[in-house]
Amino acid sequence: MPRPATPQQLAELVQDQQAAEAARLEETTTQQADDGAGGKLAALLAIALTAWVAAFGALTAIGAGAKLAGLLAGIRRDVDKASRDLGPRSRRTLEGVLQEATLLGAGHAVTFLKRATGRDHDLPDLHVARDVAHAAAGLEAAVLEQLRLAARLLTPRQVAASGWRGVILGLAAARRAARLVRETIAWTVHRAINDGAAQVADHHSARLLWVAEADACVICLAYAGRLSGRDGRFPGGLSMDPHSRSTRAAALDGPPAHVNCRCRAVPWPSGWDVSPGSLPDLLREDAWRSVAAGRGRPSEPVAARRRAAQALLAQRGLSARVRRQAAATAAGRT
Ligand SMILES: [Zn+2]
Repeated sequence: MPRPATPQQLAELVQDQQAAEAARLEETTTQQADDGAGGKLAALLAIALTAWVAAFGALTAIGAGAKLAGLLAGIRRDVDKASRDLGPRSRRTLEGVLQEATLLGAGHAVTFLKRATGRDHDLPDLHVARDVAHAAAGLEAAVLEQLRLAARLLTPRQVAASGWRGVILGLAAARRAARLVRETIAWTVHRAINDGAAQVADHHSARLLWVAEADACVICLAYAGRLSGRDGRFPGGLSMDPHSRSTRAAALDGPPAHVNCRCRAVPWPSGWDVSPGSLPDLLREDAWRSVAAGRGRPSEPVAARRRAAQALLAQRGLSARVRRQAAATAAGRT
């Protein structure tokens, strides 16, 4: 029988190896759904700019009349061409991968249990969760609505008043359709993967342990090392930053906690060690160290990380080093 893995090895299994497999599935799904549409839509801005200057002489010039109508009709045609089939293709692609994603997450959970105990664990019959199927089914309509909004913005009536800025707004709306595809796929694929893990946890009467990304945001760091309640859910609205906490947020079935969250959940059978040095403890300590260090994600305001460090100082059980670092971050000395 193989020796059970150490908490550090288990963290690496989930945060590195399995997270990379999940990321690969997300990426191939996104590429297949997007099929170049995002890039083509982004490129339209430069093309429209050239056309505008050619038609009206300068970006600050007010466009009007038949020239404006013709230019906008051309842009709308380009948007149509670039985004052709994007809605249906995205939905089809995403729906087509849900079973695989669920199975991948379940497989990861079974591997985790085996590595943690040295014993084989069986896989239950799996199903695609309802919220996952629902998210995928709604993608086509959401994309089409976004593209309809872009088409409405790119009409002479809308652009006559705002000039070139109106074209920028219309094209930005079209680009949001591609972003919506990316974000929905990211959320849905990771929800399906984590639901697969939850079905394995259920089957083995285990709770879920939240394993945050190594460079997670202040929200996800608050979940790191946390076990689900007896109902298998996590409290909603947690954050290391007091400003982004909410007491009214709905409970979570598990990760993702938000759009673009790539946290993972693993089964944690009752009776497993949660004392100092265990995996949950290790994950919590990692999260505290990350908050103390104050290095946020590019999307996070510095102030959020400072507030999180300040709030961390109230936490019991901090090492002297983490406490010193958190105090420095809170005071803006890092
Ligand atoms: Zn997360």
